[in-house]
Amino acid sequence: RWAAAVGPRRVLLASPRSFCAGVERAIEIVERALDRFGAPVYVRKQIVHNIHVVRDLELRGAVFVDDLAQVPQGAVTVFSAHGVAPAVREEAARRGLRVVDATCPLVAKVHAEARRFAARGDLVVLIGHAGHEEVEGVLGEVPGAGVLVEDEAGVEGLPPDRGVAYLTQTTLAADEAGRVAAAVRRRFPDAEGPRGDDICYATTNRQRAVRAVAAEAGLVLVVGSANSSNALRLAEVAGRSGDASQGGGAPLVRLVDGPGDVALDWLRGVRTVGLTAGASTPGSLVDAVVAALGGLGPLEVEERRVTEENVEFTLPKEVRP
Ligand code: SF4
Repeated sequence: RWAAAVGPRRVLLASPRSFCAGVERAIEIVERALDRFGAPVYVRKQIVHNIHVVRDLELRGAVFVDDLAQVPQGAVTVFSAHGVAPAVREEAARRGLRVVDATCPLVAKVHAEARRFAARGDLVVLIGHAGHEEVEGVLGEVPGAGVLVEDEAGVEGLPPDRGVAYLTQTTLAADEAGRVAAAVRRRFPDAEGPRGDDICYATTNRQRAVRAVAAEAGLVLVVGSANSSNALRLAEVAGRSGDASQGGGAPLVRLVDGPGDVALDWLRGVRTVGLTAGASTPGSLVDAVVAALGGLGPLEVEERRVTEENVEFTLPKEVRP
């Protein structure tokens, strides 16, 4: 399958890419819970949105469930990095579950902002994508006082007669979210936004980095699972970037779960491949894609680093050393 391609090829690795501090922490929480309490450890939803991470933890004794009703009374239960609504915490308490919370602290910050805005009577407008667990968790903080807006058109449907504050999901495309937030402010000039930026540092940095490699690439491969919000946004951002080296058009962009998904015909005539991975994607999968591309012939690998990351979060007390 790989042998048909010819010619030297360059791989531009976007940096930063792959795991962020919130994902590393969430995975470590499950691993430490398994060590400390023994298998099985139940995890509500996918701990992070990556099928390889989930399978690996399953092999070690984690059991992933969609609903707390599937967890036996009193069992150790981890909440995923995407956060949960208060109703889920209440249900866990009622059932006597021993909860270890792996919610990313940057998601927890959005929850706190939503509570603060709702407490003063504002309608909380959350800019985000329907069906994502983070959105369900944040809106669950403010029942009856929150509304999801997915795009600029959604802003028109907001009721005109209420004080409005807005927040964003942490993993949105910064350019798109900025346009929707601007539409909120145009319609509601007094609308207050988040204190800082809700789009997290990892999302922002990975989007900057993919733009840097997409500008020089004929093909951009984003390694990540199809349900990963930040991997999907990386693919969208890359698709909106220029392709200076190959005629000025946008590069071909493909989301792949691993090397097995890379189709040979995407590579035809492509000298430079941009490569990145979502914040929930293990770095080993990027290495595997590079190795597969190397199987085609000579390969130069270069890294484009747009910034350094040194964020670390502390572990919850239940699993702290
Ligand atoms: Fe936290 Fe951002 Fe990573 Fe999500 S992508 S887990 S919000 S650091």
